[in-house]
Amino acid sequence: MPKRIAIVEDEAELAALIDYNLSRHGYEAQVLGGAKGTLKALENSKPDLILLDVMLPEVDGFELCRQIRQSPVLSRTPVLFLTARSDEVDRVLGLEIGGDDYMTKPFSPRELIARVKAHLRREEMDAEPGAVEIGPFKLDRTAHRVFLEGRELPLTSTEFNLLEFFLTHRGRAYSRSQLLEAVWGEQRYVTPRTVDVHVRRLREQIEEQPDSPRYLTTVRGFGYRFEEPA
Ligand code: CA
Repeated sequence: MPKRIAIVEDEAELAALIDYNLSRHGYEAQVLGGAKGTLKALENSKPDLILLDVMLPEVDGFELCRQIRQSPVLSRTPVLFLTARSDEVDRVLGLEIGGDDYMTKPFSPRELIARVKAHLRREEMDAEPGAVEIGPFKLDRTAHRVFLEGRELPLTSTEFNLLEFFLTHRGRAYSRSQLLEAVWGEQRYVTPRTVDVHVRRLREQIEEQPDSPRYLTTVRGFGYRFEEPA
């Protein structure tokens, strides 16, 4: 079964170019113009990955991403933002509201395919069977889910990948660049700040007091460490 990619982009020429390149690499692409019915169309088609333009005519891409993350059908689908606004604030905002990655226009078809591949491969790797219990955490790779004291954590795919890495590499300090390499892999456009943003989001979900974390601690001047749960 070909992987299905949704392209939410109102610039018809760019959408067609992306569509062409994805199809050429064996993906099944669906172009959506980003009008009001887009969320519903995505929920119906359940794509494996969503390419999401920021500047859309009716709902902006950030708002649509929020809605995607709240949708029970789409909450775990990787979202890769396509943005013409290149300043850091917008990028970080894109990640904070649940985007997994972003690409700044113009981008090359080759770069696009590499990033799409990387995200989809990560999804597949996590499909190794078996659920493991680590203290109060239960990591189910097959289902792509993590539970804390029996309660499922509502994680985006990047948050899941990061938490999975920490849960399986406990008690050791990792620098931001080590984490980037291990979790984000070959994506060249993420910065150490990306790690901080996602760590903060994870802490809000797993820590009773995110400001004085018990599990995901800061190693000053270096990076982060996941403490062995009692
Ligand atoms: Ca646009």
